[in-house]
Amino acid sequence: MTNQNDRSEHGLVWFRRDLRLEDNPAWSAASSTHRLVTALYVLDPRLLATAASLRRRQHLADLHALDGTLQEHGGRLLVRHGDPTSVVPAEVARTGVDGIYWNADVTPYATRRDQAVTSALDPSVTVETHWGNLVLPPGSVHTNAGKVSRVFGPFHKRWKATSWDPWPEPGNGRPAKDPGDGLPPLDGAPPVPAGEDGAHETLARFLDGPADDYRRGHNDVPHDRTSGLSVALRFGTISPRQVVRAVDDGTEDRLAFVRQLAWRDWYAHLLAEMPTMPVAAVRPEYDTVAWRDDPDGLLAWQEGRTGYPLVDAGMRQLAATGTMHNRVRMVVASFLVKDLLIDWRAGERHFRRLLLDADVAQNAGNWQWVAGTGPDAAPYFRVFNPITQSRTHDPDGSYVRRWVPELSGLDRKAIHAPWETGPLELVAAGVTLGTTYPYPIVDHGSARHRAIAAYEQARTQARDQATEES
Ligand code: FAD
Repeated sequence: MTNQNDRSEHGLVWFRRDLRLEDNPAWSAASSTHRLVTALYVLDPRLLATAASLRRRQHLADLHALDGTLQEHGGRLLVRHGDPTSVVPAEVARTGVDGIYWNADVTPYATRRDQAVTSALDPSVTVETHWGNLVLPPGSVHTNAGKVSRVFGPFHKRWKATSWDPWPEPGNGRPAKDPGDGLPPLDGAPPVPAGEDGAHETLARFLDGPADDYRRGHNDVPHDRTSGLSVALRFGTISPRQVVRAVDDGTEDRLAFVRQLAWRDWYAHLLAEMPTMPVAAVRPEYDTVAWRDDPDGLLAWQEGRTGYPLVDAGMRQLAATGTMHNRVRMVVASFLVKDLLIDWRAGERHFRRLLLDADVAQNAGNWQWVAGTGPDAAPYFRVFNPITQSRTHDPDGSYVRRWVPELSGLDRKAIHAPWETGPLELVAAGVTLGTTYPYPIVDHGSARHRAIAAYEQARTQARDQATEES
């Protein structure tokens, strides 16, 4: 039993998407307030069940790494399995802590969960929350009307001009030693370097070259010259402020990279203000687009069998690795929504299940951007051409060759659109269309017209309805 004096010495940090000790405001606040700090992680079986196996492996590896870091400080990660809304209050009561700390999250699920935990706690327990996973907290960058700007440019301008609210300095509270139920063992190497050390390795690799050529390099599909930090940011093995501090030296290339982190903040701020963003079009006129019900098309897209090499390469890379280059994400998403005219939410769900960096705000925001249904989105009539995108961003076809090996015998000219290639060349490359590789499942030109017409119909319908109502 702990006596009253001990109780005031002891705090608890509930880790969630902030699997690090450095630059973690919740951990810093607790370790500077309490002599002993319990580091709790609750493995929620419902969340684990929705993640693809590679993300689960990454998640576990990041948790093991956090446990390792805590052990270096003489403690352990206290692991419990179950529903956090009952487990967290139970652990707070069992450990007898009088303060609980966590870093907040903007998703509707996390907001509901955190409210449920807060109301289940004994009112004598202090709850202190921070924003440790965004550069700037939601609500801190807004228009004169007090809203998040619906246009990225003005948001970015204010984001750059907003000074950072200081995060607490870490203290010397020591981590508690109770491992609880312990972590499940690792079932293989994680897809990306795990834990804080792994995240800093990834950052160092980026700083050692690609960061200074970001404007040119970030669209280089075959050579992966972006930072690869999205997974570390998603699990919080590094803070976005650490990344900005390390990268920002005021030069154009590095500023272009920092701007991407402003997009990340923007989508999170928008989700905080519009919790329906993952399920409803931000521009409601597009919620009446007559999406096609096409399970075969959806499956062909998911499995990388559309007959469009760049689309298929991207979807196969996603299935095999849980990652995909941003440029290819835009192309495959546009293909699903515009060429197949399938509801963007089906694609959003598929990405959310498979991506290592799956993040509700980023995923929904980007899907709505491509679909043209979101704030400051691509205009509805912009339809990515999967052939010209392939020629421009994978000019020698090496990305397609890696992920669609049955086309690897085709030269750099033919590989982007094999059906435009002569029969002799196809035979020489060992390609039989319809057998070794599919014919395109839709004709891009006519699919484009069909999509624009469907969007225009939805716009007309919305306009007519508004006129009727006025
Ligand atoms: P870098 O180019 O090195 O960029 C640095 C960081 O900036 C990224 O790690 C990321 O945190 C942020 N960033 C970059 N591009 C974007 C963007 N378009 N929107 C918001 N933040 C950005 N990113 C996710 O983190 N999670 C997702 O679930 C996700 N889903 C997406 C779905 C679609 C349809 C599209 C088109 C993009 C999606 N993105 C998502 C954004 C982007 O593709 C990834 O962040 C990027 O590819 C990650 O690689 P990187 O870390 O090497 O990026």
